[in-house]
Amino acid sequence: MSVTELFQEAYTGLKSLVIGLGVTGKALTQPGITVLYPMQEVEPENMGSFRGHVELIGKDEDPAVPKCVACGACVKACPSNCLTILCPVAAKEGEAAGEVKMGPAPQKGSKTPGVFIVDFSLCSLCGQCAKTCPVDSLQFSDNPYMVRFDRQEFKIDLLARLQRLAAEE
Ligand code: SF4
Ligand code: SF4
Repeated sequence: MSVTELFQEAYTGLKSLVIGLGVTGKALTQPGITVLYPMQEVEPENMGSFRGHVELIGKDEDPAVPKCVACGACVKACPSNCLTILCPVAAKEGEAAGEVKMGPAPQKGSKTPGVFIVDFSLCSLCGQCAKTCPVDSLQFSDNPYMVRFDRQEFKIDLLARLQRLAAEE
């Protein structure tokens, strides 16, 4: 490498260093956009675009009951197999009415889910489930502070969650 080429390389390196320091210096003078969790939490008005795990939306007239009609479309649409929805299975003719059997949604004659679980450890937050739902019964929750030690704890009972949130309102 000639002396001229060495100087050119040094100049290019120095120039990019100065540009980089300029960007860093500019960012240093801007107000902070992160928070020091757990001492601080993000303001609710800044959570508009946040996607937490999916959750059920309750009926306007009864917020503890989901709008969901147990059609099973979201289960089919989910590419990660996160959702489990079970409904009561209709008793067959001549079958004794005893313990209610549950089966995967949809089930004939059942318009309400009996079990609705999301496994958040598998979810990619793609939104296909919410997009597919014909009655707008799914949305993203807004809890960014979800930390667990056990993978099983990411299986969330969405019916229980809906009832708990409705009771808190
Ligand atoms: S957001 Fe995507 S990955 Fe998560 S439950 Fe819905 S469809 Fe499945
Ligand atoms: S697509 Fe909507 S209505 Fe159908 S099972 Fe899923 S949440 Fe319920």
